[in-house]
Amino acid sequence: MSQKQQQLDEFFDFLRFPSISTDSAHKDDVDRCADYLIEKFGSMGLEASKYATPGHPIVIAKSAPKADRPTVLIYGHYDVQPIDPIEGWATPPFEPTLIDDKIFCRGATDNKGQHFSHILGVEETLKQHGELPVNVIFLLEGEEEIGSPNLAPFLEQNRDLLAADICAVSDTGMLAPGVPTMTYGLRGISCLEFTLHGPKGDLHSGVYGGAVANPALMVSRLVAKLHDETGRVLIPHFYDDVIPLADWEREMWASLPDGDASTMAETGVSALWGEQGYTALEQRWARPTAEVNGIGGGYQGEGSKTVIPRSAMAKLSFRLVPDQDPAAIARHAKEFLESQCPEGCRIDVEIGHDGPAYVMDPHSQHGKAAQAALEKTFGSAPRLIREGGSIPIIQAIHDILGIDSLLLGLALPDCQIHAPNENFYLENFYGGIRLNQALLEELGSA
Ligand SMILES: [Zn+2]
Repeated sequence: MSQKQQQLDEFFDFLRFPSISTDSAHKDDVDRCADYLIEKFGSMGLEASKYATPGHPIVIAKSAPKADRPTVLIYGHYDVQPIDPIEGWATPPFEPTLIDDKIFCRGATDNKGQHFSHILGVEETLKQHGELPVNVIFLLEGEEEIGSPNLAPFLEQNRDLLAADICAVSDTGMLAPGVPTMTYGLRGISCLEFTLHGPKGDLHSGVYGGAVANPALMVSRLVAKLHDETGRVLIPHFYDDVIPLADWEREMWASLPDGDASTMAETGVSALWGEQGYTALEQRWARPTAEVNGIGGGYQGEGSKTVIPRSAMAKLSFRLVPDQDPAAIARHAKEFLESQCPEGCRIDVEIGHDGPAYVMDPHSQHGKAAQAALEKTFGSAPRLIREGGSIPIIQAIHDILGIDSLLLGLALPDCQIHAPNENFYLENFYGGIRLNQALLEELGSA
């Protein structure tokens, strides 16, 4: 059997575990999947252990440490999303199926394929050279899809075990097949919810309408005060700590396939809306936002009911960029909303969860090594991008272990993660193996 076929067979075995972390009926499957990894690492000569948590286990595997080499932590998650809606699948969700150049299976891209190729890369290098150019620690968790509740405590309790110089993660996007992509920034978030209370009870809109502030109307007016006509957020101090985009970033993103057009195509909107003076990619990746995630109040049932509701509410979230402080933004927003509370209403503001933005310098020593590895693997200079969402694990690794993460995405735009027909591009499976080898070599000589 060819080596490539053997690697693919092993990957298929790994994919067959229905390691759905959110469903307790699959608890044993998640556990068996962890055991599979332990056995795989053992066969490669790595020292592997399974660490129990209050939820699903964490798998750690280490190469024999050598004092003269840097240490690279490789993070991944072996748990997967549920398969619903099952009728949407064209192939059995846990029977890996190769169709043309794609492997269809739940977890194929998110995240089994992306980290298993790193494992096979290490195996390959060990076979070729008998040793690795760096010390490697694999950190593979089984709870990412349920929010990694036990990862941060594990990092806190195992700082020495996990001490490393840099972390590498393949769990982000690649712009297009064959286009190497490195993500170096993620937006943060700050959430809050507010309620306007008006009359002491719901009122007849015929009897009292026109004389009493209607909380549903007032919530709309308050929400409308969040932005000016140019899309700029009007909360005082909102932009105080925002680091402006660098020239190289704007040039790099302007050179990518048209972000405005693809944003419209992906979302199906007929026109873009947003802060003037920025492209859609800049707005999505590197500018802060104020969004309304939910708004409600009054009668929502069938037909009409002529009522002035006693209260109305809205849920807001702010996407943040370096160096905005999530707690400060929530405070400024709360003060702003309270200062704008219309007469005749009382406002309650409740601050929700938050997390800071993350950015690493892609031109640092480690960043350059990652870029060189991507170029060597895929044959062209990597595109350097940020992403609009947040990955709390990356922040935890930064805050607790004190290291940056190289986000080397292998997920293609049509990989259908979390949806039926999830798939992994076969070329990215083998590309991921080569990427790992090149990355460790570059980091070893950086
Ligand atoms: Zn996922």
